[in-house]
Amino acid sequence: MKTIVYEVNPQQVDLAVMEKAADVLRQGGLVAFPTETVYGLGANGLDAAACKKIYEAKGRPSDNPLILHIASLSQLDQIVTEVPEMSKKLMDAFWPGPMTLILPKKDCVPLSVTGGLDTVGVRFPSHPVAQALIAAAALPIAAPSANVSGKPSPTKASHVLFDMDGKIDVIVDGGAADFGLESTIIDVTGPEAVILRPGAITLEMVETLLGKASVDPAVLGKGDEKAVPKAPGMKYTHYSPKAPVTLVRGGQEQVVEAINALAKEAKAQGKKVGVLATEETKDGYEADFVLSAGAREDQKTIGARLFAILRKLDYLGADLIYSEVFEESGEGLAIMNRLKKAAGYEVIEVK
Ligand code: AMP
Ligand code: MG
Repeated sequence: MKTIVYEVNPQQVDLAVMEKAADVLRQGGLVAFPTETVYGLGANGLDAAACKKIYEAKGRPSDNPLILHIASLSQLDQIVTEVPEMSKKLMDAFWPGPMTLILPKKDCVPLSVTGGLDTVGVRFPSHPVAQALIAAAALPIAAPSANVSGKPSPTKASHVLFDMDGKIDVIVDGGAADFGLESTIIDVTGPEAVILRPGAITLEMVETLLGKASVDPAVLGKGDEKAVPKAPGMKYTHYSPKAPVTLVRGGQEQVVEAINALAKEAKAQGKKVGVLATEETKDGYEADFVLSAGAREDQKTIGARLFAILRKLDYLGADLIYSEVFEESGEGLAIMNRLKKAAGYEVIEVK
């Protein structure tokens, strides 16, 4: 299959191009497109055969459900049986935007799309290209991240092309994704909102709005063996570049010293080392590749660059990757959730 790439300016979306891409979706094809979180790999979310192609192209386990993307609230009624009061408040506050709500599904949503669950994840993205494409297709669009399963999510069209060239029909290139981390997933089917996957809509924001909310214990890390994730996809290894990632936690200077010592050791064995650093520390490292995610306090920039840095270190040929760790509050909870998973929970503590 030849993958066609269309370039689109998000500030002035070319509707004729959107029509062509929407046509591919209506005919059961696959179209990758930019959203404000990461690039999505889209298919008609009500067409089980079209969605099967998503699983095949990504190599995604079939019990890992897809999120349906909508471009209007009337599309929501098409796919869910009920909209609880708490979810209305969340929609008013954060839609369109980087938030997915788990709601009871209607029969028209195939069970093969929800991993056999009677609930469905729904998101109303704010990205103008995503909105234009979904509106043109006039369908709920299933769109997981457009990467090979297990790899870091794509934040640029070039990442999608690298993973999906020849496997999908179309890539709509609308520039870099804004947030760079997947949406916050919130389960609103119970008495209280539960965050199943942290993202740019933070626990603090949800708590302020609803008065009360919690985070699925499985998000907070390994440790508790009983904590089986409620979001099925969260149990799989994720976001991993080829090179093993190790996180190093401790005081700023101690972390730099420890990583430099590890890099020296690796070099002696002929291995190339990549470091995910910050503006504050980047000049202190002696490693083959040192990439700064941003200033330590600037969670927005760190979140936006995280996956691109992991991909770039792979591309540059790092055999080992060491990363600094970040504060686990605000968007930092999402950043650390992805980093811990990328590292398979390997953390070195230094004093
Ligand atoms: P991705 O599309 O790659 O960002 O992954 C979507 C994730 O959303 C899945 O891996 C699940 O963890 C979660 N998800 C989707 N639908 C549901 C659902 N009905 N219940 C719980 N979690 C879900
Ligand atoms: Mg994904």
